[in-house]
Amino acid sequence: MLTHALQDTLHRVENAASAAGRPSPRLLAVSKTQPADAIAGLASLGQHAFGENYVQEAVAKQAGLQGLGLEWHLIGHLQSNKAKEAAARFDWVQAVDRERLALALNAHRAAEQAPLNVLIQVNIDDEASKHGCPPDGVMALADLIAAQPRLRLRGVMVIPAPHPDVDARRPAFRHARELFEALAAVHPQVDTLSMGMSDDLEVAIAEGSTMVRVGTALFGARPRKA
Ligand SMILES: *Cc1c(COP(=O)(O)O)cnc(C)c1O
Repeated sequence: MLTHALQDTLHRVENAASAAGRPSPRLLAVSKTQPADAIAGLASLGQHAFGENYVQEAVAKQAGLQGLGLEWHLIGHLQSNKAKEAAARFDWVQAVDRERLALALNAHRAAEQAPLNVLIQVNIDDEASKHGCPPDGVMALADLIAAQPRLRLRGVMVIPAPHPDVDARRPAFRHARELFEALAAVHPQVDTLSMGMSDDLEVAIAEGSTMVRVGTALFGARPRKA
């Protein structure tokens, strides 16, 4: 099951990348709501990077997976009062959208750990979402993050508004790539454009994604939220 799902997903990613004439993006396996066993199963097939939405849920699962050398990404909205635990437990935080959160993560990232990899979540087109930095605030937030010694600015993450027609998300992906390229021109360490999920990864890759975040296509449908 998992073997086929992983192979199918990797094929989709590779096909989309070669159709676009671009290098294959990294695959982040989104394991929210999935048990630690499912993560261990994918890890045994060679999947290295996992994304979680909630700090507590991730910490509970990480306890049983130590020693596998997995790379953990926090991809959900993060409250500043959880920044301490997030800074200690993750390798990447993808949803940094405001100065206060960036400063809190920097303050709590221990000196003996590598700098925390950070993506700026940009509110690219979803006015209904409260989360994400507005596009015209990205440069200033990037400068602030780049100046923090315990953070490493790596790029941009976006979640376009969920139009049922995935092709309608294309302009948002394209806008995200323009922001990403503008950022990379100023901050040479910027190398990551995180966009594309199970249902729209082909469109995101065509528009320049370097990291797709895939849950359902790997693990199956999640239980509905109560
Ligand atoms: C859940 C989630 C994903 C994965 O979504 P799927 O449709 O299951 O692939 C990707 N990114 C974020 C931010 C998520 O919350």
